Amino acid sequence: MSAAENTAALLAPTTDFYNVFDDVTGPDLEAWQRAASFAEDCLPVINEAWEKGEYPMDLVKRLGELDLMTDGLEVEGHQKLSTLAAGLVTMEMARIDGSMATVIAVQAGLAMRSIAYCGSEEQKAKYLEPMARGEILGAFALTEPDHGSDSIALETSARREGDEWVINGAKRWIGNGSCGDISIVWARTEDGEVSGFIVPQDTPGYNAETITGKVALRSIHQALIKLEDVRVPLDAQLPGARSFRDTARVLTATRTSVAWMALGHAIACYEAAREHALTRVQFGRPLAANQIIQQRLADMLGDITEIAVLIRHLTERDIRGEMRPEQASMAKVRATRMARRVAADARDMLGGSGILLENHVVRHMADVEAIHTYEGTDTMQSLIIGKKITGMSAYR
Ligand SMILES: Cc1cc2nc3c(=O)[nH]c(=O)nc-3n(C[C@H](O)[C@H](O)[C@H](O)COP(=O)(O)OP(=O)(O)OC[C@H]3O[C@@H](n4cnc5c(N)ncnc54)[C@H](O)[C@@H]3O)c2cc1C
Repeated sequence: MSAAENTAALLAPTTDFYNVFDDVTGPDLEAWQRAASFAEDCLPVINEAWEKGEYPMDLVKRLGELDLMTDGLEVEGHQKLSTLAAGLVTMEMARIDGSMATVIAVQAGLAMRSIAYCGSEEQKAKYLEPMARGEILGAFALTEPDHGSDSIALETSARREGDEWVINGAKRWIGNGSCGDISIVWARTEDGEVSGFIVPQDTPGYNAETITGKVALRSIHQALIKLEDVRVPLDAQLPGARSFRDTARVLTATRTSVAWMALGHAIACYEAAREHALTRVQFGRPLAANQIIQQRLADMLGDITEIAVLIRHLTERDIRGEMRPEQASMAKVRATRMARRVAADARDMLGGSGILLENHVVRHMADVEAIHTYEGTDTMQSLIIGKKITGMSAYR
């Protein structure tokens, strides 16, 4: 098969309208295919898990078995995904399910990346490989009840006492924070700088409860964490995490992942809407035969094409080391906005069936709401761009 035929099996020409991905070959294609194969494990069970608000750990293990939990990081014994392959895996995962895409984003994108970027050689050797297999589940604990968008002002403290760090504070919205093994806790040390600490979740004083009542990403748990005199050894600190700039470096690297996720959600919704329009007959003909339906499908595909072109271009810049943080911000804003629009339109186009989980669209629609907010809200990312183009900060 030609390269284009291989990719067409993953993304139909009626979806990849500008052939943005039809040159993907070799290990990148293999990683994408592995990610697509996860649909067989995930789709038959995900709606039930989503409805019950359960976190299916067997699926998390499966992601490790498929070697999908590295997000482009170098981990001994595992395939190093190119930046493009990591993006395609994230896209494909969101196309299947947003919670599972978020598992990879939290585990590899944030927790493992914190260790890979800021950890000692010992910390990398101890944690990265078992985390890539999904044997150790990690969390990235930055957001606090009083500091979301302004997480730079975080108040959790780490005080040195003898040969230990004593951590106090609270964290909110922490993926894997109540059901994992370790959390990378970002805290302010006595010199006023922010640093990262690897905190085993069974450490006395680490109290986490799963946030309930969520209507998005219902198949992964986020936690509210209280940290009360949590004592960890000195070598729990990530030596390369010396200021919030190091935290931001991790966040910038993962911001484009959210744009890839948005693309995956938008594709899933558009494809469901197209299929429905072709098969649903009203007034004696398929919905797809109506001009308004065709125009709406064309608009959805236009949004998808814009996201695809934008993310592919940015990924190429990233590969060359030329991506600027505010460019990642724009990708996140534009992609999640368009995905939100596509999801809402698809939901409507399926009529009543659109609100049934069995048709998947409403799950994607709800999950897009979460990615619209996390990793820096739509507004905050826009303000980062605004600061760049005006030279004035509207937020601090
Ligand atoms: C499902 C989910 C998973 C998450 N996972 C994690 C995780 O694993 N680890 C982690 O550390 N965090 C996580 N987060 C937290 C996430 O990063 C924050 O929710 C996000 O940064 C926004 O913070 P907030 O919710 O406190 O909203 P707020 O900061 O209170 O913002 C509320 C609204 O005000 C707007 N706003 C804020 N400041 C300004 C301003 N100066 N000007 C104009 N508008 C403003 C915002 O854009 C938003 O619309 C997660 C969140 C969600 C929802």
